[in-house]
Amino acid sequence: MRRVGRLAPSPTGALHLGNIRTFMAAWLQMRACGGEVRLRIEDLDHPKHKAGAADALIDDLRWLGFDWDGPVIHQSQRLPLYRAALGRLAPLYPCFCSRADIQGAQSAPHPGEVLRYPGTCRRRAAPPPEGRLPAWRLPLGPGDDGRYVDAFAGPQTRTADALTGDFVLARGDAPAYVLAVVVDDHEMGVTDVVRGDDILPVTPAQNVLYRRLGWEPPAYWHLPLVVGRDGLRLAKRHGDTRVSAYRAAGFPAGRILSALARTCGWLAPGEAVATLAELLPRFSMGAIPRAPLVWDDALL
Ligand code: GLU
Repeated sequence: MRRVGRLAPSPTGALHLGNIRTFMAAWLQMRACGGEVRLRIEDLDHPKHKAGAADALIDDLRWLGFDWDGPVIHQSQRLPLYRAALGRLAPLYPCFCSRADIQGAQSAPHPGEVLRYPGTCRRRAAPPPEGRLPAWRLPLGPGDDGRYVDAFAGPQTRTADALTGDFVLARGDAPAYVLAVVVDDHEMGVTDVVRGDDILPVTPAQNVLYRRLGWEPPAYWHLPLVVGRDGLRLAKRHGDTRVSAYRAAGFPAGRILSALARTCGWLAPGEAVATLAELLPRFSMGAIPRAPLVWDDALL
C-alpha cells in the first residue's frame, strides 16, 4: 500500500521549533518508506490567523529542505467538501452555550484536556437567545466510542463521550477544525497522521466521524510537544523560537535540523548534518523520547 503523510500547519504565526520537530518526523517517515508527503494549510477562519503567515511558513519549510507532492491544499478553498460531510452527519443539534456557560457547568479541564460538553442544548426547551449563531453539535450515541491504539502514544482508553462530549462540527455555517481535518485526510488518502500530542484529546472524536462517514481512520502518531523550561508549550514568552528568527540571526538550516534531530535520538550528541535528507538513514520513530522536549537554545 502506498503510504501518504501530511504536514498541516495553521497560519497562526510563523513556524517555531515545536512545529518543525513534528514535521521532520512526518516528512522523514514518508520519505524513508517511499511514501508521499502532502502540505495542507489549515486556514479555516480563525481569529488568530495572520495575513501572510501561510506564505511565510511555506518559505520557512522550503528553506529547511522540506518538499511535498502535489499542490498545496488550502482548507479555506474546500468548504463545499466539508458541507457535504456535514449533510451526511445529520442530525446535529444547535447549541447556544457560551464557553463560560460550559465552564460553569463543570470543573475546569486539567492541562492538556479539552472542555467536555455536558449536553445542555440537547435537551433545550427554551427558545434560542436572539442574535447568537448556533454551534452545531453531533449527538453521540452508544456506538460512538472512538478509542484506539496510537502508534506512538499507545492505547487511548477514554471515549469521545468522556473527552469531548457532543462536539461541535460547525459554527453557524463555518465547518469546525475537527471535521475539516477528517474530511481532508480521507480525501487526500492520508494513511499516517503525525502531529503534536496536544490533539490526542480530540482524536477519539475524529474517529467517531470516520466511523459515521464509513471511512477507515489513518494510523496516528501523536508526538510529545516541545515545551519551555516552565513545562508549558513553547510560546512567545519563552523567547523567539520561530524559524524565521534563527534564520535572521544567521543560523544555517542544518544547525536547526541537527539540534532537533539530536533531541529525537537520530543523531548522537555532537553529530550534525547539513540537510534534512541526510537524516533519512538515521530516522526512527521509536527513537523519539516519550517525554516532552524542554527547549533551551544551548541545544543548538
Ligand atoms: N493545524 C493543526 C495545528 O497546527 C494540526 C492539525 C492536525 O495535524 O491534524 O496545530
